[in-house]
Amino acid sequence: MSNTHQDISLTDTVAEQNLRLQLQSTEILLRQSETRLARSQKIARMGSWEWDIPSGDIYWSDELYRIFGLPARQPATITVDWLYTLINPLDLASFKKALRNTIRNGVPLDTNYRIIVGHDEEIVVNSQGEIEYDDSGSARLLSGTTLDITARIRAESQIQKLINYDSLTGLPNRTLLHDRLHLATAQASRDKLVLGVLMLDLDRFKAINETLGHRAGDKLLKAVAKRLQACFRDSDTLARLGGDEFVAILTGVSHEDSITTVAKKILAVVSEPFYIDGAEIFSTCSIGIAVYPMDGDDSHTLLKHADLAMYQAKGLDRNNFQFFSREMNNIVLERMMLENSMRKGLERGEFFLVYQPQVDARTGSIFGMEALLRWQHPDLGLLLPDKFINLAEENGLIIPLGEWVLRCACRQNKAWQEEGLPPVCVAVNLSAKQFGQYHLDELVAATLLETGLDPEWLELELTESMLMKDIEQNATLLKKFKEMGISLAIDDFGTGYSSLSYLKNFPISRLKIDRSFVQDITTNPDDAAIARIIIDIARALNLNVIAEGVETRAQMQFLSFNNCVEMQGYLFSRPVRAEVFAELLRNGLNP
Ligand code: C2E
Ligand code: MG
Ligand code: MG
Repeated sequence: MSNTHQDISLTDTVAEQNLRLQLQSTEILLRQSETRLARSQKIARMGSWEWDIPSGDIYWSDELYRIFGLPARQPATITVDWLYTLINPLDLASFKKALRNTIRNGVPLDTNYRIIVGHDEEIVVNSQGEIEYDDSGSARLLSGTTLDITARIRAESQIQKLINYDSLTGLPNRTLLHDRLHLATAQASRDKLVLGVLMLDLDRFKAINETLGHRAGDKLLKAVAKRLQACFRDSDTLARLGGDEFVAILTGVSHEDSITTVAKKILAVVSEPFYIDGAEIFSTCSIGIAVYPMDGDDSHTLLKHADLAMYQAKGLDRNNFQFFSREMNNIVLERMMLENSMRKGLERGEFFLVYQPQVDARTGSIFGMEALLRWQHPDLGLLLPDKFINLAEENGLIIPLGEWVLRCACRQNKAWQEEGLPPVCVAVNLSAKQFGQYHLDELVAATLLETGLDPEWLELELTESMLMKDIEQNATLLKKFKEMGISLAIDDFGTGYSSLSYLKNFPISRLKIDRSFVQDITTNPDDAAIARIIIDIARALNLNVIAEGVETRAQMQFLSFNNCVEMQGYLFSRPVRAEVFAELLRNGLNP
């Protein structure tokens, strides 16, 4: 500002001086705003330009030179033809077309194109502009801006990558897989070809991960991905779903045989040893195959069916492949149907308990009962637990169902006691899910309180595998039960984990010899030996022992002879409805 004052000449009139001052400050403002514009253009990596169409003169802002990687104001004269030479030849046609469209039709210019800067470098720019016409309707001026959008494009493609690709292996991920599968089914439908969807899962990957560490596990997955890729053609898709699960889409398949060939190849390449961090790792995989259109006509169904077939393969010997089959489909449908009706069944009171007496074989008297769950299904009739317990565990319904069983059993037992029937203990089966998931001790305590049943008349049946999972936590939980006065039995004893030390550490009061040993106890010396050992263990540790599934007198005699006198089985009574059980309690087993 101080400069402006010095410029004022003494000879000027006041009016002239004022005018000059005004002009000067306007000029300063203009310059400032130009500087500001240039600065913001620089920050935005945006340049402005004007193209006087009749004369062909093009004005370029300083920032444009910078964006295009050119020295300041060089060349001084810009022509359209020169500009064309900078544009990536692949984008030139579309750029010219956009220009024409603006000039001829007045459509605002908005086009992206690549510019070659320096040696090998390329940037992506976006130009936007408006056309002005003179009075005669001829194009006069095209003016606009050009923005460097390289970073944005790069970020976008990075995002695309993140969205569509697995970061560990670089393979397409689940999202892209669904897209590709969708396209592939459409294509196969047009070309009347079949399509193979292969779901593969490494066998025992978890164990490898746990013993060698996650880094080694990651390296193995990368190595597997690489070998798998070699099994497919470029037109196929290999994707990683996550974990150790991969999916391949085989396109252009004319016959199932060619899918089999690929599946065999995969098994072979995966079973070759891997060398990770100097360690030799042997791995195998299981493959499930669904074929379009036979096994499903949308990506969702195909993947579901391939998954199912994969589990089938795992269930067999592992290291093999299985095609999805109709029977599998029926199983799926039945399970889906069951799952839907299970929720309703619980609300509608379709579940009920039956009771099987536990008997002292010396006297024939009933000292206890096991509560067993039944489901009176409206369409399928009476269902036994093996039809629905697993499903209830998978879909979480075992939690409300188990709560209901516990409450119902306690309430029934209390009711019988109030009726004056001889008091007996009721054994309730717990599932692993119930055991692991929430404050089971609180639930049990609340149920006892609510129903008024004395804890000494409740026994909980657990399995060995349930106890071995989280030993410390379980020990605390079991101790709480013990303190509450509830007894604990181990169901199906001998079929699960073989370590016996936990028997000493957990407050268990009863072992239940599994039916499978009792069945052939009189004919199979091994089963007889196992039963005897279980009885001896129980005696040594001061536990009660009961034999399940006693069906014949011979079995009963063998067990009695070997000092197992508690028994449960069809020989005495099948599991029966509550009314019938009340009769058994009242009148004894053989009135
Ligand atoms: P479990 O606890 O081992 O029950 C004994 C099973 O053997 C019962 O089958 C019973 O009916 C059957 N059984 C008893 N005596 C004989 C016999 O002499 N011969 C033969 N062949 N079988 C006999 P069920 O009722 O079908 O129950 C099967 C399994 O389902 C039970 O095995 C138990 O693990 C589970 N389960 C039953 N009710 C419940 C429940 O309320 N909750 C949970 N979580 N599981 C339950
Ligand atoms: Mg049981
Ligand atoms: Mg059992």
